[in-house]
Amino acid sequence: MQVNSPRRMRSSFLPFARPSLGEEEIREVVDTLRSGWITTGPKTERFAAEFLEYVGGRHAVPVASATAGLHAALLALGVGPGDEVVTTPMTFVATLNTIVHCGAVPVLVDVDAATLQMRVENVEAALTPRTKAIVPVHYVGQPVDLDPLLALAGSRGIAVLEDAAHAVGTEYKGRRIGSFPTTSVFSFHPNKNITTGEGGMIVTEDPEVFERASLLKFHGMDREAWKRFAKEGSPRYDVAVPGFKYNMMDIQAALGLHQLRRLEGFLAERARLAARYDAAFAGTAGLILPSRVPYPARHAWHLYTPLVDVDRLTISRDRFMEELKRRNVGTGLHYTAAHEFSYYAGRFGWKPEDFPEAHFVSERIVSLPLFPGLTDADQDDAVAAILEVLEEFGR
Ligand SMILES: *Cc1c(COP(=O)(O)O)cnc(C)c1O
Repeated sequence: MQVNSPRRMRSSFLPFARPSLGEEEIREVVDTLRSGWITTGPKTERFAAEFLEYVGGRHAVPVASATAGLHAALLALGVGPGDEVVTTPMTFVATLNTIVHCGAVPVLVDVDAATLQMRVENVEAALTPRTKAIVPVHYVGQPVDLDPLLALAGSRGIAVLEDAAHAVGTEYKGRRIGSFPTTSVFSFHPNKNITTGEGGMIVTEDPEVFERASLLKFHGMDREAWKRFAKEGSPRYDVAVPGFKYNMMDIQAALGLHQLRRLEGFLAERARLAARYDAAFAGTAGLILPSRVPYPARHAWHLYTPLVDVDRLTISRDRFMEELKRRNVGTGLHYTAAHEFSYYAGRFGWKPEDFPEAHFVSERIVSLPLFPGLTDADQDDAVAAILEVLEEFGR
């Protein structure tokens, strides 16, 4: 293998994502630590209320992660053994894992390789009498086409659970994700648009889903510790269902309270940086730039994910990422199509080509550095390294 040394080299490694945490977050965490109450309590309740107000939703359940939230929400929607849940192979594997944890079977609908969104027009053909829920994923921060999906689900009495892990701030036809008559789950993992370290939020318009998810997230207990141990509380509680330990801590919520205030600034900066990438790569052979969905939407730019046009290069996407790493530029892989993982391929007999567009994307997608603290100079280094690799390995 021929190994040229890079012409241009950053002196330090540029990660593809980095959380933006300020002094306010640090002070709020310290205040929580000094307060004597560090787990689920008043700050978690306040963060849930403020998040709900931001998205325009009805009920919120703060949880330890979006994965925990998806699991609790699926169960709260009544998904159980023998049920089918329709979702997309282009997602983080937690979407499928949580369906399997409920004893249900994921049924996949391919994506549009240009927009990366689930092909809503193909969902109807995937429905059977056993379909209990549809789990669309708002991929990389653009919304799926919700109107036809909600109409179809409504006409069949099937629940919609939005995997909104990428969609804090995303809008569909002028309305924020979280405000639709569904259940949605958001993520506050450090790579996501806002972070609580780890954390997530279930937002639902259905009071029964809210009640059930609230019980499931804390052992099935009808009263949480901070209410039982308060002066006016009672130490007794009942357990109606065997629940989980999925609660969010006040230490996490302390971060979230301030991240939420900075969210609109974060989104503006993500959009500005995405536009700079679009301009820098316009007309460049070897890179297929991300497409916009063909309906009104606000893109939250969780990720900037071009496809490496491997047919016009002498190298694979993985080698492309390797070459950038040699040039001190980090990238991410979001994601390998879920049907190609050995558990799923083995259990359901799925072959890579069964979902051809997801397979096409899965072989080519790459996440470029994108986060609110990314400077123009850092981004210019990433662009220069990428153009150098494309030129060196072009066909
Ligand atoms: C990150 C992510 C999740 C899981 O979020 P956690 O908060 O890390 O559990 C679920 N679905 C998608 C699409 C994600 O990107």
